[in-house]
Amino acid sequence: MRSENESGHGLLDRWHRLIEGDTQSPEQRMNRSFLFCAAVGCFSGAILNYSAGLTDMVYVVLVTIIGAGMLAMWAHLRRGRNARHSAMVTSCLVAIGLLPLNWFYNQGTQGPSLLLFLAVGGYAFCLLLVAPVQRLLIAMLFLVVPYVLIWLDYRFPDWIEPYPSKAAHAIDAAATYSICVILLLVMVTGFFRRFESEHRLLNEYAEKLREAGLRDSLTGLFNHGSFYALADAYCRKADPTPAEHGALIIYDLDHFKNVNDSHGHVYGDTTLKFFSRVLREIVDARGGTAGRCGGEEFAVLLPGAGPAEVEEVDATLRAQLEAHPLEYGPVRVSGGVAFEPAASIKAWMERADHALYEAKCRGRDQTVYYDRSDTGVVA
Ligand code: GH3
Ligand code: MG
Ligand code: MG
Repeated sequence: MRSENESGHGLLDRWHRLIEGDTQSPEQRMNRSFLFCAAVGCFSGAILNYSAGLTDMVYVVLVTIIGAGMLAMWAHLRRGRNARHSAMVTSCLVAIGLLPLNWFYNQGTQGPSLLLFLAVGGYAFCLLLVAPVQRLLIAMLFLVVPYVLIWLDYRFPDWIEPYPSKAAHAIDAAATYSICVILLLVMVTGFFRRFESEHRLLNEYAEKLREAGLRDSLTGLFNHGSFYALADAYCRKADPTPAEHGALIIYDLDHFKNVNDSHGHVYGDTTLKFFSRVLREIVDARGGTAGRCGGEEFAVLLPGAGPAEVEEVDATLRAQLEAHPLEYGPVRVSGGVAFEPAASIKAWMERADHALYEAKCRGRDQTVYYDRSDTGVVA
């Protein structure tokens, strides 16, 4: 059964989708919500003014028409039309039409129209942040029109329609203030969503960039630097008492120069990618780390692994390479293994490298284990 909270969220989501449509753009969502709320504000204003007898029918009809225009604009935007353009048109219409009308019918400077100017101006600035010329025009409009109205109020007080009663004044002030609070909420929510979505995008890009910096671009394995850093950290934290607590394997493709020379670099790259994919799958499955140390040389760190685990990894790798030959035959590889982490990755690598050299000397296509008990001798 869904919890009360979940069903509340579901209802809210459905309500948002109804008003904002399916768009993910915070800007479009804010614009649609704003227009919808502004249209509802117009209709509520018309009904309030009509039912409370605050103004005459001309005002009521005009506000209803403007509200219907906003609703039409909202429906138009819900079909995915340009939000910025409509913000400009709506703001101009509101600044030169609706608000001056509201001003004269609702007691000018004494009424709540200045609040509405602020709310609609704020909305226009929010949407036109990235359009400096349009923003300047809107700023001028939202400064000049109220100045003119204030001046007219001062020079021709008779033009201003007073409220029929103090109660009417209070009702209109409360209603306008409520509309402004809702519009402000829509704007702040829009900004917050925008901030959130940009922040998320930024984090995703930062993560991708960080990941790309750690990986080799051809094979997708850890690159030389990141593998060394990981393995070195492992060497430093490994407990030196137990005999077996980790293995380092170095693999080097056999006669790879010949592969390149005979079949071309593209085939060589395909070989490297294929080998890396197989190696990564096997090593990942055992909780290890694989890296590309250089050209056709790869390193594998198997934390906590002993000879049995390494033999299994090595055998699986060779079986896979044999089972999936490439166009010119299976990939052949030599390996060198060193157990027990040394004091640093450099020293550990030297031991594995020594074993690898031995594997090459013994005819390649095999893996040799470095034996620490016999100094420098390979088992
Ligand atoms: P060995 O069996 O002794 O390891 O012989 P090898 O030919 O594999 O070794 P060598 O060091 O002589 O040659 C390595 C070759 O790897 C030379 C170089 O052109 C090739 N190589 C290195 N990086 C890349 C790469 O990113 N793509 C391709 N296609 N070839 C590469
Ligand atoms: Mg090689
Ligand atoms: Mg090499």
